[in-house]
Amino acid sequence: MRAGSDRIRGLSAVVTADSGYVAASTTWMPSGACQGEDPELFFPIGASGPALYQITAARAVCRRCAVTRMCLTYALETGQAGIWGGTTSEERQAMR
Ligand code: SF4
Repeated sequence: MRAGSDRIRGLSAVVTADSGYVAASTTWMPSGACQGEDPELFFPIGASGPALYQITAARAVCRRCAVTRMCLTYALETGQAGIWGGTTSEERQAMR
């Protein structure tokens, strides 16, 4: 997972404001379909113009991913930015 490993390296644990240090499982990450994909697809800037292409392309990768559910859960639990589990930051915000 080029995108995943580049963007998540070193994030096997996160700090939360309310509870301190929390270990977050990342064992699923090497199985992500985004391995070898352009990391920029997963971090669109804005929600219009070229970012729409990036979001669509990233979602297409996520649709063929075997670990989508774990990825989405991780992003929800750790407050990640970008496309995770086929969702945008705004979509995950609405899920919380
Ligand atoms: S769901 Fe998408 S972002 Fe998450 S690991 Fe799979 S391909 Fe990567």
